[in-house]
Amino acid sequence: MRTGGAALLLAAAAAAQTYDIAINHGRVLDPESGLDGVRHVGIRGGKIARLSRSPLRGRTAIDARGLIVTPGFIDLHWHGRDPASDRWGALQGVTAALELEIGVADLEPWYAARAGRSRIHYGAAAGHPPIRMRVMGDPADFLPTGDAAHRAATPAELTEMARRLEDQLRWGAPAVGFGLAYTYGASYREIIEMFRVAARFRASCHVHMRGSTSFSGEVEQGLSEVIAAAVISGAPLQVVHINATAGQAIASALGMIRDARARGIDITTEAYPYTAGATSIESGVFKDWEQMPDSWFQTIQWVRTGERLTRESFARYRRQGGGVIVHSNTPARLDQAILSPLTMIASDGSDLRGGQGHPRSSGCYARILAHYVRDRQALPLREAIRKAALMPAQRLEGRVPMMRNKGRLREGADADLAVFDLARVRDRSTYEQPALEPEGFVHTLVNGAFVLRDGRLVEDVYPGQAIRAPRTP
Ligand SMILES: [Zn+2]
Repeated sequence: MRTGGAALLLAAAAAAQTYDIAINHGRVLDPESGLDGVRHVGIRGGKIARLSRSPLRGRTAIDARGLIVTPGFIDLHWHGRDPASDRWGALQGVTAALELEIGVADLEPWYAARAGRSRIHYGAAAGHPPIRMRVMGDPADFLPTGDAAHRAATPAELTEMARRLEDQLRWGAPAVGFGLAYTYGASYREIIEMFRVAARFRASCHVHMRGSTSFSGEVEQGLSEVIAAAVISGAPLQVVHINATAGQAIASALGMIRDARARGIDITTEAYPYTAGATSIESGVFKDWEQMPDSWFQTIQWVRTGERLTRESFARYRRQGGGVIVHSNTPARLDQAILSPLTMIASDGSDLRGGQGHPRSSGCYARILAHYVRDRQALPLREAIRKAALMPAQRLEGRVPMMRNKGRLREGADADLAVFDLARVRDRSTYEQPALEPEGFVHTLVNGAFVLRDGRLVEDVYPGQAIRAPRTP
């Protein structure tokens, strides 16, 4: 009786407290515990301090009646280079965005450029492609076009790449990025050696695999190559944008991942909800373009003008360089990728400089909720939140302990939250107009600070923190 009385008193005291922010009356959803019901969320010191069945008092009190409150989404595949491009995340409930596919060669200045300037949490992988570019003297700006694309490394170059990769991991790189389709000159030995370095730091390898159906090679072969490297080295593996790279072989590729997981291999994958991809026309993924049939060029769209290409215009623009949209998938195959329980959601988005780029940058998460969850009821809401928030946190948390407090909505977790109106949420961006803002997201909170409030971006507030692993001595 005495303990019961004390518990009641404690509960009464908690209810009487004033929180920094109280979000009351929302439908609160936590993909880890399965909680899905009306709760009242008390936020203090950047943390979720209280989840209550009765309304809470806050210095700022939000009435979230009729809205959904979930952990913020974690985008493991974001290429935005201007820190200000994180507005696209804040506008659709993304509270952390990381460049894990291509990564960067030197993380310290990259992180320094974002410290105190980011709306949402940020991070980047130690990047095999940029490290390879520096070691091999490839002058390209983002994806390799010279030696680092097509040439095998010398033994001395390989040693130097491993040394630089290790340096970045010691500094705290959260993961390692690979663009094997872009660095097609890399040997099996090079891939295995780089995975071995990653494995020593328990760092996941995020790989754009070789063997996309549009070009030379076979999907199963490209996937086998990286599964083998993961088995041999022990490094965790994330196969990026399987919707784009597996194409016609999507069912087979997902089956391979499922079976490898059943054998205890730590392999995960991700997808974005669009039938088209995007890349640079001058990059290595198009190395065999001259062998493609005439009809194939029609599937390529030049970003600057929106025109579909021909053999002649492709050749001309490839010499010039620039962004293209690649219309390569069917809605049925895309559904297989998005609806599989194996895939997390990751945008593969970018800056949309000059209003140009791929609509996934500004619409990925809105499209999942509007198209898959609400309109088609193809994906249960809780499953969508698991894919967008919990699974990405789990992917990184073995190496990055801070991720254990993200992707969940429970007491003690970080107050990174998405609050949206499921009846109104929708993506507006298109291939022709990719920079149209999504609708229906009401509040986005990062570390207990509003970066989106009442549907409007909050200016000059930068609560985003660095996502990285502890430094290794
Ligand atoms: Zn890619």
